[in-house]
Amino acid sequence: MVSTTPITLRDLAAIPVERLRGVGDKKQASLAKVDIRNLFDLVTTYPRRWIDRTNEARIADLVPGEEALVLVTIRSVTKRTTRNRRTMVNVNVGDGSGRMDLVFFNQPWRERQLKEGLHVALYGKADTYRGGLQMSNPVVDMIGDRTGKIVPIYPQSEKAQINTWEMAGWVEETLRRCAERGIADPVPERVRRRLGLIDRSEAFAGIHLPDDMKTKELARYRLAFDELLRVQLVLVLRKRALERDSLGIEHAVGGEMVQRFTASLPFPMTAAQQRTIAEINADLASGHPMHRLLQGDVGAGKTVVAVAAMLAAVDGGHQSALMAPTEVLAEQHAASVRAMLDGITVPDPDNLFGDRPLRVELLTNRVTGAARKDVLAGLADGSVDIAIGTHALIQEAVDFSSLGVVVVDEQHRFGVEQRAALREKTADGAVPDTLVMTATPIPRTAAMTVYGDLDVSILDELPPGRTPIVTMWADGPLMESGVWNDIKDEVAAGRQAYVVCPLVGESEKLEVASAEETLERLAFGELQGLRLGMLHGKLPSDEKESTMDQFRRGELDVLVATTVIEVGVDVPNATVMAILDADRFGIAQLHQLRGRVGRGQHASTCWLVTQQKEDAEGNPVVGNPRIEALVATTDGFELAEVDLDLRGEGTLMSTAQKGRSDLKLASLRRDRKLIELARAAAFDIVDSDPDLAGRPDLADELDLIFSDRDEEFLAKS
Ligand code: ADP
Ligand code: MG
Repeated sequence: MVSTTPITLRDLAAIPVERLRGVGDKKQASLAKVDIRNLFDLVTTYPRRWIDRTNEARIADLVPGEEALVLVTIRSVTKRTTRNRRTMVNVNVGDGSGRMDLVFFNQPWRERQLKEGLHVALYGKADTYRGGLQMSNPVVDMIGDRTGKIVPIYPQSEKAQINTWEMAGWVEETLRRCAERGIADPVPERVRRRLGLIDRSEAFAGIHLPDDMKTKELARYRLAFDELLRVQLVLVLRKRALERDSLGIEHAVGGEMVQRFTASLPFPMTAAQQRTIAEINADLASGHPMHRLLQGDVGAGKTVVAVAAMLAAVDGGHQSALMAPTEVLAEQHAASVRAMLDGITVPDPDNLFGDRPLRVELLTNRVTGAARKDVLAGLADGSVDIAIGTHALIQEAVDFSSLGVVVVDEQHRFGVEQRAALREKTADGAVPDTLVMTATPIPRTAAMTVYGDLDVSILDELPPGRTPIVTMWADGPLMESGVWNDIKDEVAAGRQAYVVCPLVGESEKLEVASAEETLERLAFGELQGLRLGMLHGKLPSDEKESTMDQFRRGELDVLVATTVIEVGVDVPNATVMAILDADRFGIAQLHQLRGRVGRGQHASTCWLVTQQKEDAEGNPVVGNPRIEALVATTDGFELAEVDLDLRGEGTLMSTAQKGRSDLKLASLRRDRKLIELARAAAFDIVDSDPDLAGRPDLADELDLIFSDRDEEFLAKS
């Protein structure tokens, strides 16, 4: 019996490519090399671009000096080596209207690529040369014998020996065979209608065989939406399942300790802090465990928010824990949290006064012996209310009496497993509420994909009264000398400075050498006479500590440091920073480093020092988009957007989510709006059908596309 139901992606995945005409053993092996094994792989291998032949010119119509697209046939190819040892490939091409020459410099492989008789599309600027027309180094697309107004160009791989017109032919055959039954569309009609999405069959046809560029765009939009929807569905299903399956603690929010704490603050909360605390409180009060990301730029005041959440747990008789990525940070947190909570008491019926002081304890590997025993005992019997520490907190031997709230600072430094381990220190089977704080701003929509199973709160407002840091670019030695003068002036005025050493490769050893070299150079040169100290990762920790203490106490004028000072260092009297070879750092890192100044009442400056670059002809290179972005704004979220634009999502995706291979068309950068729409659609679908029981087709598609490992990965990241 011939099936008449529409063909699903799983059906396509079940048909091996050998079933196509012209795919024998050899082509099958070639296709396997580029991971195309079945018809699903094939139809989701999308064109890299499309040539719009309606814009095509004829050779006879080419205007010298103007760019144009021409479709031509190769007539002859010759290769030679010029006197200055460059290879030069000359190609003569023609169309019905005339002929011209192409010349390719230093692309010897063109000789192999461009064979007599092939049809190619050329995009370039024609010039007159010795009386005829010539294009040098044009963009070449092999199009074979494809007709049609829009010619898709598929990714080609020389190693796989597959060309774009073969790909186009196989895709066309596949789609032709699907035409009668149509391709199944598991996305609910109401979602499609609301978003104006075209049908999936149309979309596959439209991306591979468009009649015009507009159709291609609609098709891309639809298929990109599908990719994003699938990712969001996995994340949202997982999020809802976690909420459903694990029992949380219904914290008593707005209790007395929290109120006393907020009243004791020497400043009013910013609107962003108030909003964020309200969002967290709603989570805390609910019976579902909180799983929330708190994003806030350096200095936005995340600590106050975290303390309010931790106190809510203590108010209800539970404990809380704050986990920091390094010992230094843990110690700093402990000191500042203790100071903030000074004078706050906890009800204690055994005590003569009916209460006792709130107890905050530090637990790192540096806390040893009797002190450690004491802290561990206090955690186990509940007399320690707030524990602050490093990963030492999650070791086996650490037992909490009743852990209610967990705050994880700077999550990018932790493995996902560590976070999970802390969550597993449950109180009577109830899962503690988790708040993850990060100072690395990520654009909102990217966060939706990278942290899709977390709720996100954003502290997008700095407390008032900060003097914004002025950032300047010192390009070349002349401007650099101005930087050293500025540092000397600031020191003369009683301020302090940081000098961040050039980033040298990945090796810590080289970095140490760079720090030592910089220190020496400055001590005997530009900053002679000032009191200099040095900080890098290889120093023993007590030495690091004593250098930091000296700097904090003002006994050092200038701290020459590697990127170890990126997080946590807080010296309000430091008002200048010079970052050497700043063009070697990424935007996010420069932004983090810059956050070390501008922490006090004095105006601060950050100098981005670069060595003037020259191009091949010896002209100075002007402009550096990353540096210019930092000069233009101190807003971390704005910078994150610029970063995403400049780098593409590659880096963002590759670090956090190797499993997300499904995004072939969609882009975190270009499709920001579509990500939000997909996320909303995923919530709509899951909330009306929590395990997709009524949508087996959609559920099946997720199974097909995400291996178990991917799903786990998506859910965990
Ligand atoms: P983050 O952890 O987000 O980098 P912190 O929590 O360390 O920022 O806060 C930075 C500084 O701002 C601290 O000195 C803190 O006391 C102060 N601060 C926090 N909230 C406010 C506010 N609403 N108004 C004024 N100062 C604030
Ligand atoms: Mg809760």
